[in-house]
Amino acid sequence: MKTTKFETLAIRTQSERSQYNEHSTPLHLTSSYVFNDAEQMRAMFSDEVEGNIYSRFSNPNTTELIDKINLLEGAEAGWATATGMAAVFTTFAALLASGDHIVACRSVFGSTNSVLTKLLPKWGITHSYVDVNETQKWEEAILPNTKIIYIETPTNPAVDIIDLEWLGKLAKKYKVLLVVDNCFATPYIQQPIKYGADLVIHSATKYLDGQGRVLGGLIVGKKELIAEIKLFARHSGPALSPFNAWTISKSLETLAIRMEKHSENALKLAEWLEKNNQVELVKYPFLPSHPQYEVAKKQMKLGGGIVTFVIKGGVEKGREFLDKLKLISLTANLGDTRTIATHPASTTHSKLTEEERLETGILPGLIRISTGLEHIDDIINDIEQAMK
Ligand SMILES: *Cc1c(COP(=O)(O)O)cnc(C)c1O
Repeated sequence: MKTTKFETLAIRTQSERSQYNEHSTPLHLTSSYVFNDAEQMRAMFSDEVEGNIYSRFSNPNTTELIDKINLLEGAEAGWATATGMAAVFTTFAALLASGDHIVACRSVFGSTNSVLTKLLPKWGITHSYVDVNETQKWEEAILPNTKIIYIETPTNPAVDIIDLEWLGKLAKKYKVLLVVDNCFATPYIQQPIKYGADLVIHSATKYLDGQGRVLGGLIVGKKELIAEIKLFARHSGPALSPFNAWTISKSLETLAIRMEKHSENALKLAEWLEKNNQVELVKYPFLPSHPQYEVAKKQMKLGGGIVTFVIKGGVEKGREFLDKLKLISLTANLGDTRTIATHPASTTHSKLTEEERLETGILPGLIRISTGLEHIDDIINDIEQAMK
């Protein structure tokens, strides 16, 4: 049946049934596949015929996941990797060469920052960071050797918003690839390809699995770019395991309803925090007080699950608050059914200098909440008692 509806595609995109006619996709735990004869083996190896050869190249579980995420993001092609960081690194390594340059938003994920600042320079690939809110600086940052504009929106952990339509046009004007890490929003909330992104990256570890169980990464976008990524990944080996692919594909069946509830809980929490007199600042894309509220409303279906706030009293008060939480978990993950609190200044972004942190919008007392799917009253009660 032909459909364009997100929920139906997320549930009904499924690999072919086996001879057992199973309803739910089985797990294909096999490292390699048997050929019918020498001729089929030759044809498959020479790419004349498509088929599974070896699970570093493809596996029915990873293929199902890739087919599904392509449909959900509106992409031509895709590839799956072992982790979100493998997706980020594979994209850079496959598409760039020595002498190339990346323009990135300053507030990228911590390990992406390390790839840009510590790893890629070893191979002569340089970058410039641009502050998300200084829009006129993006154009200035593009150099003759710039190949990629790399962004996250909403950003981590400041939940700043970048206008995808505007940046898509800028990338096109300078013939630079636009790569968007869509981890915070997920394709249910925002589809960057619609606005001109050439590639979209996911840490499937977060909302796509959504239950804090497995690691995974995805890259989707233009066919010719994915072909280069595929070549690099087939031979360098950051393959996603069939088990993780199976888990994430099953999880995508509930992505729509989970993102609705994450966003509903997060908005309620953000509104509650905004009224609290111990809170200095609250940032959530769908709060009218958010500096890029209009842009968020334009490109996002919902506000997502991440709320950040600054507690009065700085670092000390922030850490005291975290120590008093009873229900909410202190853990490095996000996008889980369980609500998670982190203090970026002392954890994920501790490797940045104080100055770099401030440039990224990470104030000392900033707390990031990944709002889970527990009852909102329990989430708010826990935060309220920890503030007392
Ligand atoms: C977690 C995360 C990554 C890295 O993903 P892993 O699966 O942990 O390797 C990349 N980008 C963002 C925005 C993330 O939150």
